[in-house]
Amino acid sequence: GTMTVGETAKLLHKDASEVIKKLLFLGTMATINQELDLDAIQLISSEFGVEVEVKIKVEEDNFETIEEVDDEADLLERPPVVTIMGHVDHGKTTLLDAIRSTNVTEGEAGGITQHIGAYQVEVNQKKITFLDTPGHEAFTTMRARGAQVTDITIIVVAADDGIMPQTVEAINHAKAANVPIIVAVNKIDKEGANPDQIKQAMTAYELVPEEWGGDTIFCEISAKQRIGLENLLEMILLVAEVQEYKANPNKRARGTVIEAELDKGRGPVARILIQHGTLKVGDSFVAGVNFGRVRAMVNDKGKRLKEAGPSTPVEITGLTEVPQAGDPFLAYEDERKARDIAERRATALRQSEMTANSRVTLDDLFKHIKDGEIKDLNVIIKGDVQGSVEALKSSLEKIEVEGVRVKTLHIGVGAITESDIILASASNAIIIGFNVRPEPAAKTTADQEKVDIRLHNIIYNVIEEIEQAMKGMLDPVF
Ligand code: GDP
Repeated sequence: GTMTVGETAKLLHKDASEVIKKLLFLGTMATINQELDLDAIQLISSEFGVEVEVKIKVEEDNFETIEEVDDEADLLERPPVVTIMGHVDHGKTTLLDAIRSTNVTEGEAGGITQHIGAYQVEVNQKKITFLDTPGHEAFTTMRARGAQVTDITIIVVAADDGIMPQTVEAINHAKAANVPIIVAVNKIDKEGANPDQIKQAMTAYELVPEEWGGDTIFCEISAKQRIGLENLLEMILLVAEVQEYKANPNKRARGTVIEAELDKGRGPVARILIQHGTLKVGDSFVAGVNFGRVRAMVNDKGKRLKEAGPSTPVEITGLTEVPQAGDPFLAYEDERKARDIAERRATALRQSEMTANSRVTLDDLFKHIKDGEIKDLNVIIKGDVQGSVEALKSSLEKIEVEGVRVKTLHIGVGAITESDIILASASNAIIIGFNVRPEPAAKTTADQEKVDIRLHNIIYNVIEEIEQAMKGMLDPVF
């Protein structure tokens, strides 16, 4: 009953590098050809939120094969999960509030809305789930923890202000996560608003409106005056239709913790986005390294639920402790099994905290390349002026060593921020600072997350360092 890392990755529909990363996180250094035993395969799968079943085929020499339970025929349409990102003050919160309040259907009106980290609205008999913590930090922090909860990103840009640094960050965070983008050009009610200028400027980031031959949907809206919101919601449904988001509702639930806290009266509460299966009151579960049993479940309208299916956000009680945002959530039929998995996770986590470095650094880059774990060297470039950042980007992207290339995830002018570190950590990137330094908080996070930051003030030196690292010729720094 063993499989290689590569085979396991294939089964889970993941990149081998992602599986290797997870293994590193669990405290095991592995190459693509390494054999994993059944226990390891099950643990890795559960880390990805996938339940595996072991089937013993008696007629074929007792060979154990591992199959993911979902059959194409069992998959049903599920609502898309949407995150709103963009620069500060461009209207993210106003938009989230406007969508939520315009869409209170009859019957629900008068219900007490609950803040549970996400909410659902209904448009043309179809549901859409919105995560209601705007901003790319939350989005990318979750991703850094291995959780992919967002299907579609709305990038809000104020028409009277234009593309700002956090707009660019948001675009790059969404692109790094491979999530489709809809651009909402906001504040069109304001004097001086110029939506066409925004569209023009967005083309520099490969976001080209459909009417200009591109494939990005742009919606002109006013979140405050509630103009264009219906159209925006319809466009979300259009993207969802094209992408065909599906899940199997008829199995045990799995999902992701989006928020959690200790409530004075109710004890630990967790707000969870169900992503697969159906969660029922009374189910045993694992949330990160904690386990429990669903005591009560409410939705965003404060309504008590007996069960909740894919893409539904719920708040649950019945935990032993408070989990963390981004923790995987899995329901189990058997309370003992839930407890066992939670304990194994806790042990693995303790071990990984003791072992060093799961991130790519320039010093061990060559080894990762040789082992076939890395195809691109992901970099984030921050600099003091736009010109040198652009120059660095184009020079670095020309480097190619044995088929490995530099892929720039994000460039920007200014100090290295915590958000840069989180993006690097989520995307296994290194950060290059040109004539800039990390902010103090960023430095702390980089140390924790073991993100490699390289500071330089001569372009040639950056290029030489990267080239040498790719060739395995970098002198170790002690
Ligand atoms: P956030 O920081 O992106 O969440 O932005 P907010 O939603 O807090 O909005 C910032 C400011 O812009 C607030 O004063 C809003 O009232 C205002 N605002 C948001 N949307 C619009 C709009 O469509 N038109 C106008 N005129 N003002 C808006």
